[in-house]
Amino acid sequence: MKLAARVGQVTPSLTLTVTAKALAMKAEGIDVCGFSAGEPDFETPAHIKAAAQQALDEGKTRYGPAAGEPRLREAIARKLQHDNQLNYTAENVIVTNGGKHSLYNMMMALIEPGDEVIIPVPYWVSYPEMVKLAGGTPVFVQTTAATGYKITPAQLRQAITPQTKLFVMNSPSNPTGIVYTAAEIIALAEVVVEQDILVVSDEIYEKILYEGAEHLSIGAVSHKLFTRTLVSNGFAKAYSMTGWRVGYLAGAVELIKACSTIQGHSTSNVCTFAQYGAIAALSESQDCVERMRLAFSQRREVMLERINAIPGLSCVKPSGAFYLFVDISKTGLTSLEFSNSLLESQQVAVIPGIAFGADDHIRFSYATDMTTIEKGMDRLEKFMRSLK
Ligand code: PLP
Repeated sequence: MKLAARVGQVTPSLTLTVTAKALAMKAEGIDVCGFSAGEPDFETPAHIKAAAQQALDEGKTRYGPAAGEPRLREAIARKLQHDNQLNYTAENVIVTNGGKHSLYNMMMALIEPGDEVIIPVPYWVSYPEMVKLAGGTPVFVQTTAATGYKITPAQLRQAITPQTKLFVMNSPSNPTGIVYTAAEIIALAEVVVEQDILVVSDEIYEKILYEGAEHLSIGAVSHKLFTRTLVSNGFAKAYSMTGWRVGYLAGAVELIKACSTIQGHSTSNVCTFAQYGAIAALSESQDCVERMRLAFSQRREVMLERINAIPGLSCVKPSGAFYLFVDISKTGLTSLEFSNSLLESQQVAVIPGIAFGADDHIRFSYATDMTTIEKGMDRLEKFMRSLK
């Protein structure tokens, strides 16, 4: 069978592959310490489940509008106004099948052959592949541990060409957990306006912040920024709703309409009763978000201390999300060699940094329980000793 050329341009998601391998080993009865999954290990809060159950009982099981249930679009617009100081209305919002699909719709609506999209490295695994699927060209800007894995305004300016259409921002970041400060965002925003490009801000980890770190949505910097910004977000990480597949994109009405047309011909609407769970997530108490954040915070402390105490490994302290991005360059191994060997010899699953464009790193997720963290760190120590 001759597949379309576009398939050859993209690589399967390594994060999903490694997670599947670890799960298969677990199913065989092997005691795997899993640090690969990018999802909270908590149950979805009970009031959110109850709202979806009620929606089911009330017969909210039919097709709905492609752009999402009106009540959810309104609740999201209110959230964006209240939490992010972004002056959106329901018309500026489309509900999508997760944050991933919001970004995919946006790339499909905006990017075409010849367009360049600036992506700081390390990046979330799907950004470059989505750009390529849309026919565009990803332009990578290298960051390092020395600059806290942050792109500087000078680097952004230098990467911009007449073909540049979009700059992808992700703060807090997957895989590094870094959070841009307000001053850093304002400085990047100046370049966006000066060079007249668009920016998409992926804010899926905005609620998972530590030690006083604050989230600033780049579109809130000024009106000039607001009109050049698209915001992607979702319910997966903050509310532990990964399997529900509810996310959203906010931006200019013209773009949202275009995304709705694409969605209308590809997935129709997002699961109707799941959207009612999302309405409850936004409109009821946010205590559940804080409870999960506190648990992540404790795990981060323990894991970071253990990893930084192991000779040969080092990790920048993250201020957000639930990942540790660990520098393995001193081992001389590639990230795939390291992660395969760690899984086979110690049954510890991590994601190789190559998935994020950084082959001298591996990513640990600490969205898992403390017992697994302690056990996994013991095994990691053993593994590192065995390399000598
Ligand atoms: N953006 C980033 C940076 C992510 O890490 C993820 C999920 O891992 C997503 C977007 C997509 O999340 P979802 O599609 O589950 O809402």
